[in-house]
Amino acid sequence: MDTNTDVNASNCVCYWIIEEPSGSKSVGRCKKCGKTKEFFNYTDTSVWSSEYNYDNLSE
Ligand SMILES: [Zn+2]
Repeated sequence: MDTNTDVNASNCVCYWIIEEPSGSKSVGRCKKCGKTKEFFNYTDTSVWSSEYNYDNLSE
């Protein structure tokens, strides 16, 4: 059994391509091995807005 240059999912450093969001989550697909994974949408949570609040405080 020869598994030459096949990308193995367990061996893959996944490069996630996030597809269009549906509801509160998005599906990401690995560009390399084709594996899919669900990502919860978190773009509107406090991670970034805390940075902006911090910036606003200096004004
Ligand atoms: Zn992968």
